[in-house]
Amino acid sequence: MTEQTPIVIVGTGLSGYSLVREFRKLDKETPVIMVTADDGVSYSKPMLSTGFTKDKDADGLAQANPEAMAEQLGVEIRPWSTVTGIDTDAHELKLGDQRIRYAKLVLAWGADVIRLSLDGNAQDRVHSINDLMDYRAFRKALAEGKRVAIMGAGLIGCEFANDLRNGGYEVDVIAPDSSLMPSLLPEAAAGAVQAELERLGVRFHLGTVVERVEKQGSGVELTLGNGEQLQADLVVSAVGLRPRTELAREAGIRSGRGIQVNRALETSAPDVFALGDCAEVDGRVLLYVLPLMACARALAKTLAGTRTEVSYGTMPVMVKTPCCPTAVCPPPMDAEGEWQVEQDGADVKALFRSPDGDTLGFAVTGRFALEKQTLAKEVPPIHR
Ligand code: FAD
Repeated sequence: MTEQTPIVIVGTGLSGYSLVREFRKLDKETPVIMVTADDGVSYSKPMLSTGFTKDKDADGLAQANPEAMAEQLGVEIRPWSTVTGIDTDAHELKLGDQRIRYAKLVLAWGADVIRLSLDGNAQDRVHSINDLMDYRAFRKALAEGKRVAIMGAGLIGCEFANDLRNGGYEVDVIAPDSSLMPSLLPEAAAGAVQAELERLGVRFHLGTVVERVEKQGSGVELTLGNGEQLQADLVVSAVGLRPRTELAREAGIRSGRGIQVNRALETSAPDVFALGDCAEVDGRVLLYVLPLMACARALAKTLAGTRTEVSYGTMPVMVKTPCCPTAVCPPPMDAEGEWQVEQDGADVKALFRSPDGDTLGFAVTGRFALEKQTLAKEVPPIHR
């Protein structure tokens, strides 16, 4: 009897593990190999920015080790295995000198953090937190410190600011924009979140950037573009993510902002699929959990023999700033219309209305955040 060529999945983040979970509901037999550059521990990435609030360190956030996941899912998992290339003609994955043959290949290898090039000698005290191993290193480095400077006031920077304040740390946030989460929130909602974070003790330095980081004793001195100087024990960089496309491009797989796939999650190479933070699905790069779960459900069916297209519903994003509960459903990029804002202090309800009066998006903070589910029903799904 010849052995069946496996389905190979690269990545054991939420995308990889969600896909296998969905696939095993439909097919318990086909061999699956998962390879990952990291330790293969299963965890929920969104929880990384709630560690102090929920009183959990890296061990507390870990859900299962790869051995337990392999047994539970009936798959082989190879941790500490970095993919270095793909031979799409031979249907082979390259890991240095090693080759793994695949019947179908799924790229679920996530996004890289963007690293700013800063002057100064304290680069090694600048932490990016994009996985559990990063989080472990960050918590270890923070053990002695009390002051954290965060670069970036996007969703992740703001969530870490709130969480670190809840942990009793001094927090400075530095960002070039004039308001928080500019790509997600209209100004009124951003202002409400900022005011509540400030009330909690977060100090914002907006409209400027970090130019230099110098070691000062066991800490860091930051010099900002506006000439200001700040002291911190360590720096968190939360300036954005970039889908991992390099190896796909080298293999001739079409890529734009992400690895380009159609709604069936098919790349331009035969039998190669992509989902999650690395994928550009039907022109959209959405670095969130709801889209990857929808993709995992659709792709599991395809891999089990029924070609299925993903259909995105309405996808609100919850911002985990408990000092100012916030939910947002951004309108489509090219949507015509304007924000209509109702505000009572930190309670903001902003609706993005089309010229016909339809609600195309919303942002709600404070007590209005309770209305997120009702409002989500008014907003049309991404895929109609
Ligand atoms: P990843 O989790 O990054 O997994 C990538 C996998 O690929 C890893 O196993 C990695 O080791 C492996 N890999 C990479 N390169 C290689 C290689 N060359 N060879 C082998 N393996 C490789 N989204 C929400 O919807 N709501 C939230 O509240 C939310 N909060 C967040 C908070 C934080 C702090 C962060 C960082 C993100 C948050 N997100 C949130 C985003 C969400 O967590 C991500 O969209 C999601 O976890 C991405 O999962 P993924 O599996 O696609 O990628």
